[in-house]
Amino acid sequence: MGSIIDIKTEQVRLVYSAIPLSALAIFINSTLLGIVLWTVTSSEIILSWLAATYLLSALRLWHYRKFKACNPSPADIGRWRNQALIATVLSGLLWGTASLVLFPGDDIAHQVFLAFVVAGMSAGAVTTLSAYTTACLVFISLALLPIVLRFSLLGSSLGYTMAFMSALFLVMLMITSTRLNRTILGALEMRYGRQVAEATVRRQALYDTLTDLPNRRMFFDRLKQELARSQRHKHLGVVMFLDIDHFKKINDSLGHLVGDELLVAVADRLKGRLRDEDVIARLGGDEYVILVPEIGDALEGATRRAQLFAEELLTLIRGHFDIRGHNLHVTASIGITLFPLQQKTPEDLLQQADTAMYQAKREGRNSACFFLPNMQEAANHRLSIEKGLHQALARDEFELYYQPQFDSHGVLIGAEALLRWHHPERGTVSPGEFITIAEESGIILEIGEWVLRAACRAVSALSLHHLTISVNVSPRQFKDPNFVERVKRVLDDTGADPRRLRIEITESTVIDNIEQTIVRLQQLKALGISFSIDDFGTGYSSLAYLKRLPVDVIKIDQSFVRDIETDANDAAIVETIIVMAKHLGLGVVAEGVEPESMRSSLLSKGCHQFQGYLFSRPLPFPILQSQYLTGQARQVDPKLPA
Ligand code: C2E
Ligand code: CA
Ligand code: CA
Repeated sequence: MGSIIDIKTEQVRLVYSAIPLSALAIFINSTLLGIVLWTVTSSEIILSWLAATYLLSALRLWHYRKFKACNPSPADIGRWRNQALIATVLSGLLWGTASLVLFPGDDIAHQVFLAFVVAGMSAGAVTTLSAYTTACLVFISLALLPIVLRFSLLGSSLGYTMAFMSALFLVMLMITSTRLNRTILGALEMRYGRQVAEATVRRQALYDTLTDLPNRRMFFDRLKQELARSQRHKHLGVVMFLDIDHFKKINDSLGHLVGDELLVAVADRLKGRLRDEDVIARLGGDEYVILVPEIGDALEGATRRAQLFAEELLTLIRGHFDIRGHNLHVTASIGITLFPLQQKTPEDLLQQADTAMYQAKREGRNSACFFLPNMQEAANHRLSIEKGLHQALARDEFELYYQPQFDSHGVLIGAEALLRWHHPERGTVSPGEFITIAEESGIILEIGEWVLRAACRAVSALSLHHLTISVNVSPRQFKDPNFVERVKRVLDDTGADPRRLRIEITESTVIDNIEQTIVRLQQLKALGISFSIDDFGTGYSSLAYLKRLPVDVIKIDQSFVRDIETDANDAAIVETIIVMAKHLGLGVVAEGVEPESMRSSLLSKGCHQFQGYLFSRPLPFPILQSQYLTGQARQVDPKLPA
């Protein structure tokens, strides 16, 4: 806000700016006074007085030039004001002295002439000094009081009248000066107010109000300049896109005040690390962008330096934040892109950094990732999937497949419902390719409801067979506040027996908000629904929360099962999970069982329920029915040794 005036400084500036004019007036008036009084007053006195007056004027002019040259700051202005006051006092004294030493004894015409000049000088001072009332009042008092004194000492009635008139004039000037001063101050204040308002509007257009960082618009302006400069000078710069990990969680659980303060604290911490020529802006939410011009000339060195710098920023963010009594531990993800590598616009660069940032998130967060061209393809691919999913719902392109589950005697005990997308161009697409995207875009809520409905219809259709149908429920779906209501409605609509429905949730769903999970599980359990924890062993905490959760089954993750025969660690993990589950009274299902030897190995460790290609791939519902459930309900797996 450097351009906004400071009222005090401006007052002093007005006083100084009047010096040349007043010096000229003093020079003319004092010279004329000397000439007119030459015949009636001692020439030595006139010359000495004139010399003193010229000298003071010269000194004030020199002082004025010094003031102009140094353009003083508000901090120095007090000193300059005092110096102006001293100069004014000296000048007032000189004009007062004129009335005392140049006053011709008995020549009324010259006396009146002297009074006229002194009064004129005083009136002039009101116009030049009114910005600073003290100086003005001191000057006119010092200049006019001696003449009042001299006239009253004459003893004649004309003398008294002149003394009275001069005194009256002095009072009038004092009143005028104070009023003028008020007007000047008013004008200055108005100008100040307008400048503040203008500056605020300017700031708001270019800066983020919360963190005081530049905003998107200003960032783009700077990036555009920097892009042009780097092309001219052939050096590389870098754009980084930084996003705080899980910020929404902090905001939701601790409130917006804490969230806002965290954003400011992060901004300050980042700002503290940057150089003057770097730019950091906040784009909104918890997204920051950083522009570092001239990070190197060669690609290799620039890349290495950008990487180091990003890691430094990540470390900086990882330090604790103390916000309103909360000790917050946060991490961030950074996307990096260098410029000018191809003909890219500022928008392209930001898009690239953004894409790379998403990649960093996908790779586990708390990391930095460079933009690579194939990321753009991946981003486009994601977009097309997202669009396709909306159409898939509308065009009824989804189908539920069912993968049978068997017990150790080869008896069919249930099936897991697995989603398939019959894409009009690409054929059958497996959920691995679209569930995460559906989850991130939010459309999982609609897809999930469709899955639940289809699975419940299957439960109804299979009501004679006492099979349990497992349905995968994604974290976002499970956390939806209306989830329990939705499930109830689907059960009502389809008439499915809740005791035949099992919901599979993952560890990450559970640990995200364990208290809420427990409440929700209990509500659904009260309806008769059972639960399994999917992909068990891939999450973090296990035992501590497992004890508290009302779940029924643990599904050992395929990654452990796969290597059970070759990897001693995995074998030990599987064994531990089975023992623990037994201890807690939970069922265990092993999935991804492919060769028979794997089944035997699992069996020997105490696992009695299986799912995998060894028995069957996921099947369309009619095939599941015809293969396993027709006639007299042949439920024993045909491929098993008798
Ligand atoms: P998941 O819940 O772990 O499902 C098991 C996955 O393992 C299935 O893959 C299944 O086809 C595959 N599988 C089964 N037996 C074997 C085997 O012996 N060997 C190997 N290599 N794989 C086997 P799928 O159908 O591609 O599903 C992938 C994931 O997508 C599922 O993993 C699940 O997390 C998710 N998913 C599937 N359907 C749905 C759904 O309706 N809703 C939600 N939210 N997620 C779903
Ligand atoms: Ca599953
Ligand atoms: Ca699984």
